[in-house]
Amino acid sequence: MSLAGKTAIITGSNSGIGLGIARELARAGADVVLNSFTDRDEDHQLAADLGAEFDVSARYIGADMSNAAACRGLVETAGRCDILVNNAGIQHVAAIDAFPLDKWDAIIAINLSSAFHTTAVALPMMRAAGWGRIVNIASAHGLTASPFKSAYVAAKHGVVGLTKTTALETAQEAITCNAICPGYVLTPLVEAQIPDQMKTHNMGRDEVIAKVMLERQPSRAFATTEQLGGTTVFLCSDAAAQITGTTISVDGGWTAL
Ligand code: NAD
Repeated sequence: MSLAGKTAIITGSNSGIGLGIARELARAGADVVLNSFTDRDEDHQLAADLGAEFDVSARYIGADMSNAAACRGLVETAGRCDILVNNAGIQHVAAIDAFPLDKWDAIIAINLSSAFHTTAVALPMMRAAGWGRIVNIASAHGLTASPFKSAYVAAKHGVVGLTKTTALETAQEAITCNAICPGYVLTPLVEAQIPDQMKTHNMGRDEVIAKVMLERQPSRAFATTEQLGGTTVFLCSDAAAQITGTTISVDGGWTAL
């Protein structure tokens, strides 16, 4: 599978799942555009190193995915978008009656609205090129709910709805749109929670992972960023040309329960 000649924009890709997806797309030969809101020297260096490792063109473009104009500006600045991966996301955990308004607004903006804005600008580029792939990173929480994650669950269900609508609007073109629904993935964000959980539950690392973090993931194993990257590359392949408007769970059986 070669994606040589394709340009992929991955939102929120200076760490975790987004970076894992960018790496697998670059490994498959795609030129990649990395993004986050931070715009530090190390972000640009990360892109340069990735480009050198896989012999592709790799750029970093700073843009805050909580801002509509910045979302649109990211795709406009990239100038070309054959593959769009909407991955940027944040989380906040609180009961509905205590959920901070600013957190609700930020989660809906970054996790849901950003995908609408980037897609709106990317679609004309894909139509001009006669080919396109949109991969939205939803979550098992795009298909099921958990208490205290109202904004995240609402946003991720919204991402699945946006995915279906985008697929229907492009159904007769060589453009597909799908959502990947990961269960727990061991990203730096999740890794950082382990020491606190060990203290809170007075458990060792393995016990916290199995009994607390992966309690709803029947495999009792994390999905990896490489697996999510591989799933994305598959969705960009010719084999996936008739897969559109659907979700692919990478969740160790979570949504089978
Ligand atoms: P992460 O914190 O490692 O990565 C999040 C990325 O989004 C980072 O690159 C960060 O810089 C970027 N980001 C955050 N706010 C931004 C903003 N305002 N503008 C631009 N970029 C911004 O987290 P992750 O675990 O890799 O999560 C990536 C995606 O996968 C998210 O959408 C998340 O909801 C989803 N997801 C994660 C898991 C998991 O277990 N880790 C499970 C299901 C879904």
